[in-house]
Amino acid sequence: MNPMLGPDFLMIPGPTSLPDAVRTAMASPAQDFSGESFRRISTATFEGLRPLFRTAGEIFLYAANGHGAWEAALANTLQPGDRVLVPESGLFSFVWREMAEALGLEATVVETDWRHAVAAERIEAILRDDKAGRIRAVLLVHTDTAASVTVDVRAVRAAIDGANHPALLMVDAIASLGTTAFEMDAWGVDVTVAAAQKALMVPPGLSIVAAGARALERSRRGQHLPGSYWMWQARLGQELYQRFCGTAPIQHVAALRAALDLIEEAGLESLIAQHQRLATMVRAAVERWSDAGFMEFNALLPAERASSVTSIRVPAGFDAERIRDHARRRYRLTIGGGLGPLKGQLFRIGHMGFLNEAYVLGALGVLEATFRDLALPIGDGALEAAVAAREGAAAG
Ligand SMILES: *Cc1c(COP(=O)(O)O)cnc(C)c1O
Repeated sequence: MNPMLGPDFLMIPGPTSLPDAVRTAMASPAQDFSGESFRRISTATFEGLRPLFRTAGEIFLYAANGHGAWEAALANTLQPGDRVLVPESGLFSFVWREMAEALGLEATVVETDWRHAVAAERIEAILRDDKAGRIRAVLLVHTDTAASVTVDVRAVRAAIDGANHPALLMVDAIASLGTTAFEMDAWGVDVTVAAAQKALMVPPGLSIVAAGARALERSRRGQHLPGSYWMWQARLGQELYQRFCGTAPIQHVAALRAALDLIEEAGLESLIAQHQRLATMVRAAVERWSDAGFMEFNALLPAERASSVTSIRVPAGFDAERIRDHARRRYRLTIGGGLGPLKGQLFRIGHMGFLNEAYVLGALGVLEATFRDLALPIGDGALEAAVAAREGAAAG
């Protein structure tokens, strides 16, 4: 491998690029996980996460990826045989539901085409029909990274309230936290799941669960699945080995603290505004490319398009992996592909985390070159449209 080719240019929806302060923290030396220094870092990390989630609830950190946080949310609040309601959004709602079933839970799925969010009225109707209260939780993916669809969490909360139903609202905010507004307490979210490697700019291997009072109450009453590692009540102890159920992932926590420092210095609102600005640029370019009738947004409604990732479909018979392969081999840009059943049908531009206009214009420029190299039909003026959209977003 030629060492002078420069770094891979990574524009995938996680893991994302790492700021220097985060990489330095990951390289910090070994230390006693019950010592004073780590206690300080750890306390500051737990405290710093509350405002990020906009919650006064409890924060739990797991040495696990997002799947671990999914399991923790289910394991602490649901009992074997309980039913969950899963409004589909894309592959991630599908996989969370599969996990629930593997844990002995039953699932009612509200289907969509993975190009729209589920209408809240459909959720409300199902909850109204559940007179016996068998549904114990609604599992909602805020931004489904596979479909690049963002769901209106407040509308789902209103549906649960409208049906006067006691189900908990559990939200996967893995790909939305830090990229789009999320207000756990104000929106009535009972459990939120997040992971380090998306907009939090930390290497994969650390995940976060935030739990509100109603969810904690279930775990306190023993209304949970059998288990030990994920259990909140054991993790609420004062000792750090209790908080982490064993040795803490010290460097990961230090890295997360370093990332929180950056987010606090920038300001959460400004971080979200930045993601929206960059997303607007990407969408403006995709709109121009789509003019030729070849490619199109996967998310059909503009209001549901995610601010962290954009999925772009190509016609049946064309393998979207060709675009990814060419961009990587010729230009060293790595973008995301279609996941699961969507493989080959779409490609995904990740625009979350530690990024700026140069990254976005670089990626759009490489993609424009790739489409031309492959002689794919695209409309003109995509880069100009992205630049103009940036000006509009900055002024607005
Ligand atoms: C990335 C992602 C996950 C899975 O996280 P892992 O760390 O890969 O387990 C789950 N949900 C969403 C919305 C994601 O973007």
